[in-house]
Amino acid sequence: MLTVFCSPSRYTQGANSTLSLGKEMATLGLAGPALIVAGKTAIAVLSDTWRLSLEDAGFTYQVYRFGGECSIAEIERVKQQARDQGSRVIVGAGGGKVLDTARAAAADLALPVVTCPTVASSDAPCSALSVIYTDDGAFLQYRIYGRNPDLVLVDTHVIARSPPRLLVAGMGDALATWFEAKTCVEGNVKNMRGGASSQSALSLAELCYRILLCDGVDALAALQNQSPTPALERLVEANTLLSGLGFESSGLAAAHAIHNGLTAVPQTHSYFHGEKVAYGVLVQLILEKKAEPLLEEVLDFATTVGLPTTLAAIGLAEMTDEMLDQIAARSTAQGETIHNEPFAVRPRMVAEAIRAADALGREWKRKRGISTAR
Ligand SMILES: [Zn+2]
Repeated sequence: MLTVFCSPSRYTQGANSTLSLGKEMATLGLAGPALIVAGKTAIAVLSDTWRLSLEDAGFTYQVYRFGGECSIAEIERVKQQARDQGSRVIVGAGGGKVLDTARAAAADLALPVVTCPTVASSDAPCSALSVIYTDDGAFLQYRIYGRNPDLVLVDTHVIARSPPRLLVAGMGDALATWFEAKTCVEGNVKNMRGGASSQSALSLAELCYRILLCDGVDALAALQNQSPTPALERLVEANTLLSGLGFESSGLAAAHAIHNGLTAVPQTHSYFHGEKVAYGVLVQLILEKKAEPLLEEVLDFATTVGLPTTLAAIGLAEMTDEMLDQIAARSTAQGETIHNEPFAVRPRMVAEAIRAADALGREWKRKRGISTAR
């Protein structure tokens, strides 16, 4: 198996980096007209800066207001506007669904793509895939592309004003990176790009975990003051760049499969991807029979920043055996990344580990006098 490492061509991060968007695009040799696919908040917060930055660098552009769902119909509407405009580059600005839509339209039209995440809630911005939904918001398919974004530009001035719960969800997604990467490397399985993992990807995944433990709490405090700090800069890099490179170039294992399983019951739908992934991390560590000190380190981090460690905290206070069976079946479906674990994983084992993680989380909270309601 060949070793494969993938990344965006350029990653730029910092307070008010949007002011440099045009210059950064020009540096890569990208040319206009540009089509900016943007969410409501991004348009409200960034419109003036786009004008300054893009016009200064000689880019003409139009803004397409995102319709709310990364669906096939929405991707087609973006493509139509891009054709009408004669776009030569597509820029996505907003949350994960906006970026996924921009990426899908750009891939279909063979255009370069720039992603400008306005939240640090997942590791999607640097990746080469989109999650496609139906118009009603049900999961439809993954689309995987040959290339990662040409440019990922993260404005930490904007992230510092984003909802704290989204930054915490990003930490949940990033929390899984090191554990899933290690499992994939130890099992010598393929990463998300079809190759073996590199030392580089594994080291980045480990660095991602270390930054979460060191800077997670301080980064969250920066959001209270709505002002970027060095801790927030490092944490945003972990959530966005390190987690993205780590998962794509090292691979996924049980934690993300448990997330997918949890989405099989509607009670979890109002919880963010990273929140469900964080619960999946606990389940993975239990499946892998990891030693207590490691479980305690993860539980301590999760409860300190406010990530879920109990079923009640992801909407499953009342979970029937039938629901649990559904989750376990979906988690272990054929092709799921749970089969990257170095042992055969059966639905019964997963169901038991899901219950065991809940018992562990509740006991941890009880010992520390934390309410189990959250
Ligand atoms: Zn994820």
